[in-house]
Amino acid sequence: MRTKTDVDSLFEPRGVAVVGASHNEAKIGYRIVENIVKSGYNGGIYPINPKGGEILGQKMYESLSAVEGPVDIAVISVPEKIVFDAVKDCADKGVKHLVIITSGFSEVGNVEEEQRIVDFAHDHGMRVLGPNIFGIYSASASLDATFGPGGILSGHVAIISQSGALGVAMIGKTAAESIGLSALVSVGNKSDIDETELLEYLAQDDATRVILIYIEGVKHGERLVETLKKVTREKHVVVIKSGRSKRGAMAAASHTGSLAGTDEIFDNVMRQCGVLRAESLQEAFDWARFLADAPVPKGKYGVIVTNGGGIGVLATDACEKYDVALYDDQKTLKETFSPVMPDFGSSKNPVDLTGQATAEDYAKALDATLEKEGMDAAIALYCETALFDVNKFKEILRREYEHYRGRKPIIFALFGGDKVDHIIDTLGKDGVPVFASVYEAVSCMGALYRSWRNLREQPEEPELYDFDADAVNGIIEKARQQGRGFLLADEAQQVASILGLPMPRSIVAGSIQEAVDAAEEIGYPVVMKVVSKDIVHKSDAGGVALDLDNKKEVVDAYQAILRSCRAYKKDAVIKGVEVVEMAPPGVETIIGARQDGAFGPIVMFGLGGIYVEVMKDVTFRAAPVSRREAQSMVSEIRSYPLLLGVRGEKRKDIDEIVTVATRLSSLIHRCRDITDVEINPLVVYDRGEGVKAVDVRILFKKRPEVK
Ligand code: ADP
Ligand code: MG
Repeated sequence: MRTKTDVDSLFEPRGVAVVGASHNEAKIGYRIVENIVKSGYNGGIYPINPKGGEILGQKMYESLSAVEGPVDIAVISVPEKIVFDAVKDCADKGVKHLVIITSGFSEVGNVEEEQRIVDFAHDHGMRVLGPNIFGIYSASASLDATFGPGGILSGHVAIISQSGALGVAMIGKTAAESIGLSALVSVGNKSDIDETELLEYLAQDDATRVILIYIEGVKHGERLVETLKKVTREKHVVVIKSGRSKRGAMAAASHTGSLAGTDEIFDNVMRQCGVLRAESLQEAFDWARFLADAPVPKGKYGVIVTNGGGIGVLATDACEKYDVALYDDQKTLKETFSPVMPDFGSSKNPVDLTGQATAEDYAKALDATLEKEGMDAAIALYCETALFDVNKFKEILRREYEHYRGRKPIIFALFGGDKVDHIIDTLGKDGVPVFASVYEAVSCMGALYRSWRNLREQPEEPELYDFDADAVNGIIEKARQQGRGFLLADEAQQVASILGLPMPRSIVAGSIQEAVDAAEEIGYPVVMKVVSKDIVHKSDAGGVALDLDNKKEVVDAYQAILRSCRAYKKDAVIKGVEVVEMAPPGVETIIGARQDGAFGPIVMFGLGGIYVEVMKDVTFRAAPVSRREAQSMVSEIRSYPLLLGVRGEKRKDIDEIVTVATRLSSLIHRCRDITDVEINPLVVYDRGEGVKAVDVRILFKKRPEVK
């Protein structure tokens, strides 16, 4: 059981004050009072305005101190200049939550005033929602303390919105689409209360079945991830984020950085958390409405019932796209549907009743599906024909839906002219999930199944590798004292060996003679690589020579490397050349980890080698990851078949990739001074034969974080 937190009284306040209530109907301060009164809130309502008087049948108080009852929420809508004074009055009154509507704070660069308010609030036991918000709605309190258009229906969808304008528009939209809300919260600048805390509350709120979040930017992403992972085991969570096309800032020094478009990371991390990310607002609302009403499926197999072959095929495609499995036991399909099937129909899934079918045939086929054990969900399609009595059909759909509603998920897609559109409209308003497009309908079913798989999955603890972090930090500190922001090859190797990563043998040589000795000791063939604090990408500088078979080649390579590195960067300080055992060829992968601006530590896996930037076949997770999460990264990339083995090749050592990924995840999670670590390539061999970290790169903050 969750203990009551600060946020509970935000949703269940005993009294609400509106500081800045106005007699002027055109003002926000009027609108908020009006909504509170009209929504039927039965706690104390206290409009505050120095002029006093009356508003909408409520006494207007001249000041907060004149209010006698308890005030849990103060909605503040006075001008920015006097917000702080209002906050002081709230402290004197013992208010718990400041819901600051007023804008003109950090969103326009006025960070200090916002911070001053938050600090003062915290010193006086108050919490802040906003500023720069449109308010809050809570169904359990019957309270609409927003300046929206009113008319919010109560129901099972909770909305958290970072955008004010869009949030207000959502009020109208949900009302128009008959979507009932359990809560609606505007978080605005998130100066104090953010999504994470609200999610914790909503996760245990019985009325809430679906949580829909509109997000523009992630703050404190580590906490958000931790919370989302828990919340998605209880509720469906749908997210819509703006900025899909924007790419994050390019960090030149690592592939992990430059490949990490903020949106790709957001996308991957949301999936990792079990969150459903919608493509558009419309999709988000479609999902939310469907998920709020649909029962949890008992199994994974859907049945498509249609009177048109064409749209049946479209739906089959959509099922593939949205990962909805189709019931495939042909014998049972035949037994189930033959009795209700017209002459030329097909009982294969899609169950095609053909244009010959009447509304009654259609109803019988739907009944057969929904009564049959093992047929877990129904996708009911209809193409307009002359044989259907449209009005009768409408009532049949309504009846079927009502009858099976709590038992099995059902979705409808109808295609045709005005009469059909009319059915879609009317049934839609009554909460029946009918769509004009097969894709939209199946997309909803797909969302339900994705969320369902997540609800069923047992949570798994992250795999934390116990390594000597002090030793790693020591190596970094030494390099830092030399003014560097990255480790040289030999130092990176030390870190890799602390993590127990398999690497080819290597010796750093400071002269030709030392290089030859090293090569003889390691054994031919060898690889040689420049070791220089001024060169990060060694092959770009001509600093790598592969496959050296004898002493002469080592001598030549040594000179060639020095020559081309000097040509590449005139004043490069070259410490020497690393002589390395030549690793046998295998599949080149890349594993990286870094501190991300939004989510904190993250891990990346992908197909590596020199084409990594071109192929961009990579995937991300928030760290630390569990083994299962690391495994899912491997199986998620497009090149996964290469690791399974193509054309008679053996399967590669995927277990070892997973191990290396969890170790980098542990490293980036614990050593916060490391900004980027990347193994490219991590060469992967056949199953049982392991992997080799051939090139390990580690970057760190030049100055340690002041804590
Ligand atoms: P950089 O990425 O700084 O250019 P690498 O050490 O990754 O340098 O070397 C470049 C490429 O050379 C690697 O991607 C890999 O294909 C190959 N290579 C490097 N070291 C070895 C090795 N020890 N055995 C086999 N191939 C190697
Ligand atoms: Mg490399």
